[in-house]
Amino acid sequence: MPYGQVLYDTEGKPFCEICNKAFDRVLSHVRQKHGMTALNYKQRFGLDTTIGICSEASKAKSRAKVYENYESCITNNLIKLGAETRYTPEHEGRTIDKMSKQTYNRLADRWSRVSRQSWTHRRCEQKKAQKRTSEL
Ligand SMILES: [Zn+2]
Repeated sequence: MPYGQVLYDTEGKPFCEICNKAFDRVLSHVRQKHGMTALNYKQRFGLDTTIGICSEASKAKSRAKVYENYESCITNNLIKLGAETRYTPEHEGRTIDKMSKQTYNRLADRWSRVSRQSWTHRRCEQKKAQKRTSEL
């Protein structure tokens, strides 16, 4: 499988990079069957360490559980406890050397789409300006 990329089967389940089988929650499988932590697995295969690797069905199930336990999950864990790790303007951020291949690919893809849109927009504006000039 390509380094820094998660591949999914036809049911939307991500493949394990080690045994090439697909699972709803691949990181649980990796911990149980290969004895590897989620962090070690993600670092070894160039994946973002802060993003989960699971199927859409599993994400939906987890999301529903979070809303069932709104007080403890959202109010306590995210709003109260999250205050310690929340972004501040003086934070140095994550530099490129700390970035996973997956994050780099995602940002490069986003940047290419934004710059393409920007180029298309500039080209349209140039054509409009040329048309206005030729009409004079
Ligand atoms: Zn496996």
